[in-house]
Amino acid sequence: MSRKNKMEFCFAVRMRMFPSHRQEKILWKNLNASRFVYNQLLANSYTDSAINKLNKLYPIPKNYWKYRTVKGKKTAIAKSKKRAVGLDRITADRYPWLGDKDLDSLMFYNTELHYQSAWQMFRKVHRSGIPKFKRKDRSVQSYSTSAIRQKGATLYAKSSIKFLDNCHLQLPKIGRIKVKLTRPLPKNNAVITTATVKHFSDGTWFVSLLLKSDQPFVKELLLATDPIGIDLNLTEFLVDSNGNKVDNPRYYRKSRKHLARLQHKLAIKYRRAKKEKRNLRDCKNYQKLRQKVASLHKHVLNQRNSFTHVLSTALVKNHDLVVAENLQGKNMIKNHALAMSISDAGWRTFLTQMEYKAKMYGKTFVEIDPKYTTQRCHACGHIKKGKDRISLSGNKAHQTDHFTYICYNKECPLYMHKQDRDVNASKNILDKGYSALLGFASPKTKISR
Ligand SMILES: [Zn+2]
Repeated sequence: MSRKNKMEFCFAVRMRMFPSHRQEKILWKNLNASRFVYNQLLANSYTDSAINKLNKLYPIPKNYWKYRTVKGKKTAIAKSKKRAVGLDRITADRYPWLGDKDLDSLMFYNTELHYQSAWQMFRKVHRSGIPKFKRKDRSVQSYSTSAIRQKGATLYAKSSIKFLDNCHLQLPKIGRIKVKLTRPLPKNNAVITTATVKHFSDGTWFVSLLLKSDQPFVKELLLATDPIGIDLNLTEFLVDSNGNKVDNPRYYRKSRKHLARLQHKLAIKYRRAKKEKRNLRDCKNYQKLRQKVASLHKHVLNQRNSFTHVLSTALVKNHDLVVAENLQGKNMIKNHALAMSISDAGWRTFLTQMEYKAKMYGKTFVEIDPKYTTQRCHACGHIKKGKDRISLSGNKAHQTDHFTYICYNKECPLYMHKQDRDVNASKNILDKGYSALLGFASPKTKISR
């Protein structure tokens, strides 16, 4: 077995980076070059496909090939057999500044990989759309590079990207750079494969390292803790089948007023600068304020991420089976009034985190089709139809509010009992999860374990 196949376990660590002025200049050169190469690849994509067809129809004649002699043997250079496409077209001969010695050669290679995976994404998930050009004013700029490893490489040695100690990292072209680790590094023969450098518009730098290992990163937890169904809804973030409720934190709403005030001030400064025909780059107060707005946005994002991470880890660690509803089936975003609450809640992120964490900890996570989960009674299986149905605002015919569920089936053990609507729904979700695991899954069901 090759060394590549053995490395089946992946893990990512992200940390803040503190470059010096000199290092910041080099990082910017690489960020800009990566964006330029990506955009060029995209701009060339249509002519590239024409060249590819031409290569097939009319290959380059043999007497135009270039040769290289290795150990006395004359071999044709593969590149000279075909007309150049992709990265081979974007050379330093054509764009001399790409020959800068501060540019990381593996950055070019990784940019091409990203470009190719963007097209693959388009082919697999058509909705994702064709790759788009990367703007210079995006709030997050990034580039990736790979580590060159020798035999017996570790996190600390024999690799071009390595830790020098617990607060310094070695990066190609950058050298020794200060970083801040937020948690201890894994101790399982892990090696660094790629590093992605990110710059955020609030001026902060981050680096994400992709670690690979032949041993698992997380100890799989023992099974046999209770299964759980969760209902995602608007009043609370989620309600589980044991009756526990987790409040919706609504971080964006809390910061909205502050944000609006800052953005208003920013707009005034922007208009004044335009009126006086000054370049925005030279307006120091404008730039200061812009950075303030950016860091407030980042603050809200950090709060939300931290909340979903803590919650998803806790759920996965404490339950061996978690069942949730597939939000795409719910189509809730169609309702405009709810759209902000939904995008603020970040449920999609939460479900994605649940999915990979379940795999990591050896647990099962099931996403089911949410059809009838609100209308069905979990005790007898009766489904409310017609005027009996409960909507987002409750049921007018029976004068119930939107918090209660009452079953009117006379044979039901809970006949005329007041139940919590969301707890009832989450119990239905758990039931659906069980039947999915037994093989009665509808096509919208997704099981990860
Ligand atoms: Zn019932």
